[in-house]
Amino acid sequence: MHIQDIFQRYRTTISFEFFPPKSTDASEALYGTIAELEPYKPSFVSVTYGAGGSTRELTHDLVVRLKRTTALDPIPHLTCVCHGEEEIRSIIERYAEAGVSNILALGGDPPRDREDWDRSQDAFRHAADLVAYLKKFNDSGAHPDRRGFGIGVAGFPEGHPGTPNRLLELDYLKRKVDAGADYIVTQLFFSNADFLDFRDRCDLAGIRIPIIAGIMPIVSKKGMSRMAELAAGARFPAKLLRAIDRAGNDPAAVEKVGIHYATEQCLDLLEHGVSGIHFYTLNQSAATREIYANLGLRDTDALAAAN
Ligand SMILES: Cc1cc2nc3c(=O)[nH]c(=O)nc-3n(C[C@H](O)[C@H](O)[C@H](O)COP(=O)(O)OP(=O)(O)OC[C@H]3O[C@@H](n4cnc5c(N)ncnc54)[C@H](O)[C@@H]3O)c2cc1C
Repeated sequence: MHIQDIFQRYRTTISFEFFPPKSTDASEALYGTIAELEPYKPSFVSVTYGAGGSTRELTHDLVVRLKRTTALDPIPHLTCVCHGEEEIRSIIERYAEAGVSNILALGGDPPRDREDWDRSQDAFRHAADLVAYLKKFNDSGAHPDRRGFGIGVAGFPEGHPGTPNRLLELDYLKRKVDAGADYIVTQLFFSNADFLDFRDRCDLAGIRIPIIAGIMPIVSKKGMSRMAELAAGARFPAKLLRAIDRAGNDPAAVEKVGIHYATEQCLDLLEHGVSGIHFYTLNQSAATREIYANLGLRDTDALAAAN
């Protein structure tokens, strides 16, 4: 479903993010997770794109499989890094043929094993260039939906390290929106005040498209460290770190703290009329399921009905 129709249907969307599995075991685990999460009827699910196109086929295959074999509505991520125009064109043509309705257009980071990659070889330097290309593709009528792909972009409530100038950063985000983006999904964050301030700053900058809040429940200390590495710009508030510390070396207690904290964040975001909540699931279902239960939601439709 085109993202504009999704926002028509849900005043607040709830969505899940998966990454493509690279082994048979990981694949089995992911399909188990998907089977557990499908009954929660997410507004959509998104599938990440490995750094520099390292999961190009895996992302495509998972998206198409989800579309064909489940009731889920998958949105592929796509990045500029390490790609020429021909490659990007063939990727989006295949998605259009498969009837995929939306794409999350990203700059992307170079993969660790190709850090010497010369970015001048990329067809698109910034996500805004990819958005403009998708818009041109949409306007050509090559997609079965006359509106073409719905287009999402990334936002960073706590700032992206590549642009320490916060005013300039908002200008760059505005360029993505002006190029044709329909919605923004944020980097994970642990301080709602940062998200709400970001939303206000977007409004002041004339960015008036839905902003979906990225939430990652912490389920282990190891996962938290990994996220600190991957989630550029995200801050870990002392209140959260203290609570995790209090859980000591008890993994179940750490998980409980993480889920409780994420639930509180979601409750507060709902109070503030957030357009959507996007769960970074790390291909696991337990935390997401527990948060639905804590929010008193049978599934995402129950939220739409209550709104
Ligand atoms: C929701 C979400 C999903 C993600 N999924 C993936 C994924 O699947 N695969 C993956 O590899 N990465 C993913 N990332 C990470 C993302 O690709 C990186 O954080 C990347 O560095 C920034 O992406 P962007 O789309 O904001 O890029 P851009 O918008 O291109 O911005 C990148 C940097 O360049 C700056 N910039 C933008 N325009 C200009 C300009 N005109 N001149 C100068 N500087 C400019 C920006 O301020 C920023 O610092 C995701 C991030 C988020 C928030």
